[in-house]
Order: sequence, then structure tokens, then C-alpha cells
Amino acid sequence: MKATQVAIVTGASRGIGAEIAKHLARDGYQVVVNYASNAAEADKVVQDIAVAGGKSIAIKANVADAAEVAALFDAAEKAFGKIDVLVNNAGVMPSHLPVLADTDDKAFDNMVAINIKGTFNTLRLAAKRMEQGGRIVNLSTSIVGTTLPGYSVYGATKAAVETMSQIFAKELRGRAIRVNVVAPGPIATELFLAGKTPERIEALSKMPPLERLGQPDDVAKTVSFLVGEQSGWVNGQVLRVNGGLV
Ligand code: NAP
Repeated sequence: MKATQVAIVTGASRGIGAEIAKHLARDGYQVVVNYASNAAEADKVVQDIAVAGGKSIAIKANVADAAEVAALFDAAEKAFGKIDVLVNNAGVMPSHLPVLADTDDKAFDNMVAINIKGTFNTLRLAAKRMEQGGRIVNLSTSIVGTTLPGYSVYGATKAAVETMSQIFAKELRGRAIRVNVVAPGPIATELFLAGKTPERIEALSKMPPLERLGQPDDVAKTVSFLVGEQSGWVNGQVLRVNGGLV
């Protein structure tokens, strides 16, 4: 029988990450539910997974902090013995998105620290500590394609994630570790909904030819595919999941 595999999902207390964690647990992975501050929500995800017959633990770690990421990997190995899958889902986008000219240092630094450095921190450790045959999925955004005004810094941090992922996939030659990126369009989570009027949400929901708002489940299914055997020949790719938006 195949040994149970282990997945770390960063930012899995809410939104897309929580759904990814639940899907991977359903797929048979033991899951590390990482979060930044929301312990109660992370514990709820662990409970939901247990009720569905799965196994997971919640681990607090700020992905922007290299020492905390090292502790996250230590805790994952201590709990489950190894790391087969890493999903870099933790990310931030402020609800108020001014144009570049009006973006302050704090907002810039926070998005760079969590979206770029956070991804870098986990990838650097994964290069050393992930099992042969591992799989990594990093979260970008379809904003890299739509280039909507107001999203310059957020979009730039995710463009950096895409480039880093594609180069990293090549650097892992010989390890049989696949690295891919999922770049969703608007998805119904706090990150997207916060600060928007119902009219704005409706307008953005109607933009893709499939004419609805994406759901966390749409992204989680794609991540399940990208870490699963069905995608064994997919490596170094960016897959936009957005109903045809761009
Ligand atoms: P969300 O609902 O705001 O959830 C964010 C998650 O990330 C939470 O679990 C949060 O933990 C965690 N997090 C935030 N900062 C962290 C840090 N420094 N270290 C560790 N965890 C941290 O966001 P979402 O909409 O699910 O987005 C998930 C990913 O998808 C992000 O990378 C985002 O950029 C990307 N994305 C989202 C959309 C969208 O429309 N929603 C579209 C394209 C791409 P706490 O609960 O502890 O705060």
C-alpha cells in the first residue's frame, strides 16, 4: 500500500486555502493547516477535516518570517514525518486599492513581504526538505493578465511569484518535483469581497464569459488536479482559473 502523503497549505484558515486543505484531506493527504492569526478558524478547518474522516493539524506561522516558516516545516515533519506537497496560498491584497501614485510604503511592503518573500521562504526550504517526487502549487492571480488599474503592486507581486515558480521548476531538475501556478480570477472570499459595493461585485462577476463569480471550490479542484497523478506531465506552468476572463 502507498504511504500516506503529507501536504502543507499556507493561509488555510479561511477562503481558498481552507477549501484546498479540505479537498486535499478528502484526496487522502495528511494536511498541515497553516494560518497567520486566526487560530479559531484554523481549528474549525481541522475539525471539519476530522468529521469527514481526514487528518490534519493547525500550525501558526507568518510566511513572511523565515524562522517561522522553518518552524512550520519542523512541525509538519514532527507530526507527519515528511512533506510531499506544498501549496503557497497565503497572500494579501488590501481592500482599498489606490492607483500606484497614491499607494503608500506600508501597503507596498506588506504585499511584497507576504506575497513574494512568503513564497520565497517556503520554496527555499522545500528545495531542501521536500520528498523526491513532491509537488508545489503557488497561487498567483489573473490580474497579471487583466492589468486592471489599482492592482499594480498586488499584480506585480504575483507576477514575481509566477516567474520564481517557473525558474524554480527548472532548478529542481533531478528531484522529480513539479512546480505549477494557479492564477484565479475573482473568487468569493473576504480578500475579494471586502470594500466592494454589490454593484462592483456584480460587474466583476459578469466579466468572464461563464458569467459568475468564482468559488473557492473552483480553485481547490484545480489544485487537487495539479498535485495529483493526472497532471504528472504538467510542470512549470501557470494555469488561469477564471471562467475565461483573460
Ligand atoms: P483570504 O480569504 O483573505 O485568506 C487569506 C489566508 O491567508 C488566511 O488563511 C490568512 O490567515 C492567511 N494569511 C494572510 N497573511 C498570512 C501570513 N503572513 N502568513 C500566513 N498566512 C497568512 O484570501 P483568499 O481570497 O482565500 O486568497 C488566497 C490566495 O489566493 C491569495 O494568495 C490570493 O492572493 C489569491 N487569489 C485570490 C483571489 C480572490 O479573488 N479571492 C483571486 C486571485 C488570487 P489568517 O486567517 O490567520 O489571517
